[in-house]
Amino acid sequence: MAILKVARLGHPILRQAAAPVPVRDIRSGEVQRLIDDMIETMREYNGAGLAAPQVHTPLQICVIEVAENPRYPDAPAIPLTVLVNPVVTPLTVDMEEGWEGCLSVPDMRGMVPRYTAVRLEAHGRDGGKIDTVAKEFFARVIQHETDHLHGLVYLDRMRDFSTLTHLAEWSKHWLGNTEQDD
Ligand SMILES: [Zn+2]
Repeated sequence: MAILKVARLGHPILRQAAAPVPVRDIRSGEVQRLIDDMIETMREYNGAGLAAPQVHTPLQICVIEVAENPRYPDAPAIPLTVLVNPVVTPLTVDMEEGWEGCLSVPDMRGMVPRYTAVRLEAHGRDGGKIDTVAKEFFARVIQHETDHLHGLVYLDRMRDFSTLTHLAEWSKHWLGNTEQDD
């Protein structure tokens, strides 16, 4: 396994639409190795999730996991989840604001509106179908990661930039002062 280099905002790959993975290729050594490396990279940098374009690979794959994460001390746990070709459909009209950060936008945080419940259809790393409903923080992370597969970052979803905050200032001025989802 290997820790991969993470593309930062400004790298064109973050703005490209990623291609679906042919289902017959999901179990290939190449795709499985990429998934393993993405998991290792996410854990190394304490990400809540990581999408393949963030590691310079324009494929529709993302990994999500929240255990004890120093970048998100108040986040509820999410077991390791691998999504291939995910399709996300909002199940609510309501959106809720919550803090997000991104390994491709280092050391920043901002309040981002997200749907509070989504239907998630995808393939798992074994090629099997996933069809489930995700809510609250898990729904937020899914929306963040799948946005990466369409060339979007969380900044594109912010209603305004008044909450865009450097991490050091966030800990000082915002942590505990606002309702937090992550
Ligand atoms: Zn991100």
